[in-house]
Amino acid sequence: MNQYVSELMDAVKAKNPAEPEFHQAVQEVAESLTTVLDRHPEFREAKILERMIEPERVIMFRVPWRDDGGVMQVNRGFRVQMNSAIGPYKGGLRFHPSVNLGILKFLAFEQVFKNALTTLPMGGGKGGADFDPKGKTDSEVMRFCQSFMCELSRHIGPNTDVPAGDIGVGAREIGFMFGMYKKLKNEFTGVMTGKGLTWGGSVIRPEATGYGAVYFASEMLKTRKEELKGKTCLVSGSGNVAQYTVEKLLSMGAKPVTLSDSGGYIFDEEGITREKLAWVMDLKNVRRGRIAEYVEEFKGASFTALDGSLGENPLWDHKAECAFPSATQNEISEKDAANLLRNGVYVISEGANMPSTIGAINRFLDAKILFGPGKAANAGGVATSGLEMAQNSMRISWTREEVDNRLYNIMKTIHEVCERTAEKYGTPGNYVNGANIAGFLKVANAMMDQGLV
Ligand code: NDP
Repeated sequence: MNQYVSELMDAVKAKNPAEPEFHQAVQEVAESLTTVLDRHPEFREAKILERMIEPERVIMFRVPWRDDGGVMQVNRGFRVQMNSAIGPYKGGLRFHPSVNLGILKFLAFEQVFKNALTTLPMGGGKGGADFDPKGKTDSEVMRFCQSFMCELSRHIGPNTDVPAGDIGVGAREIGFMFGMYKKLKNEFTGVMTGKGLTWGGSVIRPEATGYGAVYFASEMLKTRKEELKGKTCLVSGSGNVAQYTVEKLLSMGAKPVTLSDSGGYIFDEEGITREKLAWVMDLKNVRRGRIAEYVEEFKGASFTALDGSLGENPLWDHKAECAFPSATQNEISEKDAANLLRNGVYVISEGANMPSTIGAINRFLDAKILFGPGKAANAGGVATSGLEMAQNSMRISWTREEVDNRLYNIMKTIHEVCERTAEKYGTPGNYVNGANIAGFLKVANAMMDQGLV
C-alpha cells in the first residue's frame, strides 16, 4: 500500500470505526487510483477522494410498526445520499437483519462509481432497514413499508433521490412503498424504480442485473475469442439477480449447476434447466420457500447446508469455467478464490455487490483470469432503472426489444470503457482498476466543475 492510501485508510478507520465493509470498499478504490492521483495533482489538491468518501447526507430514522399479533416492533431505517455530482441520488433499498450504517455506506460509495459507468445521469445513494421480510406476512410487510415511507418520503423525490430494490426489496415492497409515497405527496411521479408494469415500471427491469452480468461475462470472453455456450457456471443466491442470471445463461447455451440461499446451496450436475428455473422462481417469488426444497423435487441434485459464516463455502469448490456470485458481500473468501482457480474457473462476473474479499480479488488479478467487478458487471440493474426514469419523464413505454438492446449496448460500453481505461493507466486486463478509474474520473471532473460544495 503506498503512503497516500495508507494515510487515507488510517483516517477513514479513525473517523468511521466499526464499519469494516466501508473500509474495504474505500481501500479497493483508493488502491486503484494511485496512478490517476499522481497524474492529476489537481484532484489531490481539491481533496476530491476525501470528499467522495464523506456522504453528502445520512438520514437515520425510527420505523415503528405493529405485527399481526398486535405487538409493537421498532426497526431502524437509513438513506445514505452519497454523491449528487452527476445526477439525483440513485440506488437501492435493502431490508435485511444485517443492515447497518457501514454496510449502506459501502453500498452507496460503490453505487457512485457504478452509476457513473452506466453513461446515464445518476448520482449515488443507498438505503434500507434492519427489517427481515422473511417469515413475515404480506400485511406485516405492508405496514412496515408504509411506516418506512412515512419518513423516507421527506427526503426523496423524482429530481432528488430515486430509490429502487435490493436484497429483501422486490416488486411487493416497491409497490407498498410507492403507494404510500403517492398518498402522502398526492402526486404520481417516478420516485422509485422497479415499479409494476401497469404503473410506470419498465420491461426488463427485473431481469436487468442478471442479464447484464451475463452480457458482461460474454464481452470479457470475446476478448479471448470465446463464448459462454457449453460452459459450466456456478451461481450463488436464488433471488432476483441469481434467477435472471440463470435465465440468460440458459439462453446463451451455458450450463448453470448451483443456486443458494442463506440456508445452504444446491448442486445439480445435470444442469438447472428452464423448467427447474421456473420451479425455483415460483418457490422463491410466490411460495417464499427455501432452496433446500429443490432436492425433494429434483432427485438428482444435492443440498449442502451452510451456517452463513465466512471462511470456506463449498459452493465454490466444483469444476466449472465461470462463476456468478449473486447473493451478498464477502461471499468469496481468499480460500474460496483458491478453490475456484484450482477447479478451472477463469471467468467471474459479480452480480452481487462486493462479493469477493480483497484477498480473493488479488488472487484473481494475479492469476490474470477474466474478473468483472460488481461496479461494472452488475451495473445493468441501475442502468435499466435509469431507462425507467427516462420513460417516466417522457410518459412513454419502450418495448422489450428496445430496453434489452439498450441494456446490452450499455453493458458493452461499460466493458469497453473499463478495458480501455485499464490499458491507459498501465494495467491491461485489470477490470477492477478500469472500473474504479473510469467511474472516478467522471464524478471527479463534475465535482471540479461545480466548485467546493
Ligand atoms: P434478493 O433478496 O432477491 O436475493 C438475495 C439472495 O441472496 C437470496 O437467495 C438470499 O438468501 C441470499 N443472501 C442474502 N444475504 C445472504 C447472506 N448474508 N448469506 C447468504 N445468502 C444471502 O436480492 P438481489 O438478488 O436483488 O441481490 C443480490 C445481490 O445483488 C446483492 O449483493 C445486491 O446488492 C446485488 N445487486 C442487486 C441489484 C438488483 O437490481 N436487485 C442490482 C445490483 C446489485 P435468503 O433468502 O436466505 O436471505
